[in-house]
Parts: sequence; C-alpha cells; structure tokens
Amino acid sequence: LPIVVIAGRPNVGKSTLFNRLAGRRAALVADTPGVTRDRKEAEATLRGRRVRLVDTAGLEESAPETLYGRMRASSATAVSGADLVLFVVDARAGITPPDAHFADWLRRQGRPVLLVVNKAEGRAGANAALEAYALGLGDPVAVSAEHGEGLADLMREIADRLPAEDAAEGDADRPLKLAIVGRPNAGKSTLLNQLVGEERMITGPEPGLTRDAVAVLITDEQGQVVEVVDTAGLRRRARIEQALEKMSVSAAIEALKMAEVVVLAVDGTEGLHEQDLQIARLIEREGRACVLVLNKWDVVPDRAAARKAVADRLETSLAQLKGLPVVTMSALTGHGVDKLLPAVRQAHAVWNMRVATGALNRWFEAALERHQPPLVDGRRLKLRYITQAKARPPTFVVFGTRAEQTPDAYQRYLVNGLRESFELPGTPIRLQFRGTQ
Ligand code: GDP
Repeated sequence: LPIVVIAGRPNVGKSTLFNRLAGRRAALVADTPGVTRDRKEAEATLRGRRVRLVDTAGLEESAPETLYGRMRASSATAVSGADLVLFVVDARAGITPPDAHFADWLRRQGRPVLLVVNKAEGRAGANAALEAYALGLGDPVAVSAEHGEGLADLMREIADRLPAEDAAEGDADRPLKLAIVGRPNAGKSTLLNQLVGEERMITGPEPGLTRDAVAVLITDEQGQVVEVVDTAGLRRRARIEQALEKMSVSAAIEALKMAEVVVLAVDGTEGLHEQDLQIARLIEREGRACVLVLNKWDVVPDRAAARKAVADRLETSLAQLKGLPVVTMSALTGHGVDKLLPAVRQAHAVWNMRVATGALNRWFEAALERHQPPLVDGRRLKLRYITQAKARPPTFVVFGTRAEQTPDAYQRYLVNGLRESFELPGTPIRLQFRGTQ
C-alpha cells in the first residue's frame, strides 16, 4: 500500500486529521501539545485508493534535544518511507519559525509533499494559505479537520499524488491522447492511415479532402492503446469558413486542446514554414508535448541538408521547445513510421516528469552559485528555493525576495538548466516566481 505520512510541529492538528482520514475516532485528541504518545497507523480508503496512513504526532516527545531536533528525529524515519507527506500547519497560528524550519528540512528529504493548512475555518484560512505559499512546498490545501471542511478536496489532492496503482496496467487502461496537426498536404491523413493500418479515410492531393473529425484507437507494438484525435472534419469546416493560410492553424487549435501529445507533421521537401512554427508555438503555449515529423522523406533529395535546415530553424525560432524530438519518415511507403509511437511515448513521459524536491534544490543551489542572480534596482535578488508545482507540462515555482522581478535572461538561464539537468527535452517548461518577505 502507498504510505501517507502526516507530519508537522506539535499541536497543528495532525491527530485530528489522521482520525478524519482514517474515518474513525481512533486517536486520543486534545488541545495540549504532545498529548498523543504513540506512532499511529491505519489503513484508509481515499477516493477509492487504499493507503496506509501514518501519524507522527507524539513522536516528538520521545526524542531528546531541541524542538527542531525532536521533530526531525521523530519524523525522519516515517518520512523516509513515505510515498506522500502531508505537511500540516496551523492557520490560526500562521506560519511559525518551527514550521519554516521543518519545511526547509522536509524539502531536502526528496519525498513528495502536500502542504495542508489546518484549522482554516472561516477567514483564517485564506490568509494562512497565502502565507503558506512562501514555504515553497507548492499549493496549500486548506482544511478544517475538526469541522470536517475541505476534506473532499484534500482526499482528491492526495489521490492525485499517489504513485499509479500498477504503472503498466494503469497506463494501458487510459489511452494516451494524440493529435496530428500540420499544414494541408503535409501527409496527416496518410500518416493516420499508416498508423491505423487500413485505408479508412480518403486521402488525396487536394487539401482538405478528408472528412469528419473522429477519434481512432490504435494499438502500438507493446499492446498499449493510443487514441488519435483526427481533425479531418475540423479542417474541412475551417476551409469553408476561412482562408487557406489560416485553416490549419484553427484546426490545430481545436485538436491540440483534446490531446496530450501533438504530432506536428511537416512536408520534408519544403522544410519549416512560418506557419509550422506558428503551430509549434501554439502547442508550447497550450502546454502540450510535441513531436515533429518530417514527412515525405522518400522524396527529399538532400536529406542531410534538409535535416540541418530544420535544426537551424528550430534553434533560432523555437528555443522554447529546445530538444524537440524529430522523426523522419515516409507516411506513403510506411518507412520510418514505426519510430513515431515510441517517440510519442517518450515525449509523453518527459511531459509527465516529476523531479524530486531534494534533487531540484541541490541543482538550484549550484545554479545560483554558477551565475548569481542579477541586481535589480541596485539590489541583488535573493532566490531561496524551488519546487515543482505540477507536471503535464513540468511547472516549477521559485521563491525568494522580490523573486517576481527576476529578469527574462535569468529566467531563461534557469529554464535551460532545468531542461538539461533533469532531461526535459522538447517539452514546454513553466517557471513561476513568487516573492517572499
Ligand atoms: P493532409 O492534408 O496533411 O492530410 O495530407 P494527405 O495525407 O492527404 O497527403 C497529401 C498528399 O501527399 C497525398 O497525395 C499523399 O499521397 C502525399 N504524401 C503523404 N505522405 C507522403 C510521403 O511520405 N511521401 C510522399 N512522396 N508523398 C506523401
């Protein structure tokens, strides 16, 4: 069972929360610090997922030394085995120095953390939640364990962060959603026919000949299912309503909203047009994973030159998708088509990547040392830590004094560093900055 550990300084309401989540009044709870004595565990069902809940309340009393030392000693073992740590703070007390200290330590443990602001009934909640952002542990969830408020949200957030039940099976159950977009005549329909393995759509040299938007299920060599959103109908509608130049862009917008990974098909004999780049930027802006297909490779006269021209163009005009995977193929003959789905799966995995907080902050410290943050208005920016707020696409938040004033060039430096250090090629990367006092 996945292990969910409830941690935090004494008296923030860990035991009450434990009881709420475990669904019974198991532990003795009182408003006096350290009233519970033993490490408590219970099995619980959260949104249909069975988990083992571990409450660290009371452990802090058994270890020697300072409060910090005690909290660490007591929580370290529990946290090290956790699939998720619920770090609980008290909205009424606000974020206290021991909370901040504990958060610092927790970030270095490299376990996934969900920040829970407890006792957040009424107005206290909003203020404390804002304050809690500064802990650098992602978006806080406000609850009142005692009054039973916010628990449904909390359970959903917990369930979202648990490791997949059975990774292989779980993925196979939910098909990856793919869209194939590109300018008219790039070979999208021909490619889809190849993937489907039968002539189920009409293709021809006339742009926009194919009909009807459909979702096609295909199975790849590992037996995994991919759902391809076909935009043929959307393209046709667009053709009636709009000028030719605009039509593939508007069709792409519709398609990529429905997709996780977007295959951008380009006629390899023509190279990248401005419109292709426009679609690619759209994919980046919508935060989708992308694979570039250079099609009609069978009739490209100088492949090395064609490949280089594309690489150069990507470097100068599409830096925000640096490392974009490129697959060359002939959709017509089928040659090279087998490389596509593995590349799609790889792009999907990168897009889903979660970087451990500990590793992230070790990298961050080194990056700040290599190039210290710039002066803004004569004062040096103080960036303190970084956390990954979410995946799909990878989204990070940097906290620090006046962090929101970080200049573009320094932001790019950090994004490029993240991309290289954590192997995130070709995916959109979001980097946000939040100021702290
Ligand atoms: P779509 O508008 O992007 O769906 O493009 P189609 O799939 O309808 O293809 C447009 C034309 O390009 C058709 O005549 C196809 O036969 C041709 N075509 C597609 N892929 C290839 C390829 O890999 N090599 C060659 N030589 N022709 C292709």
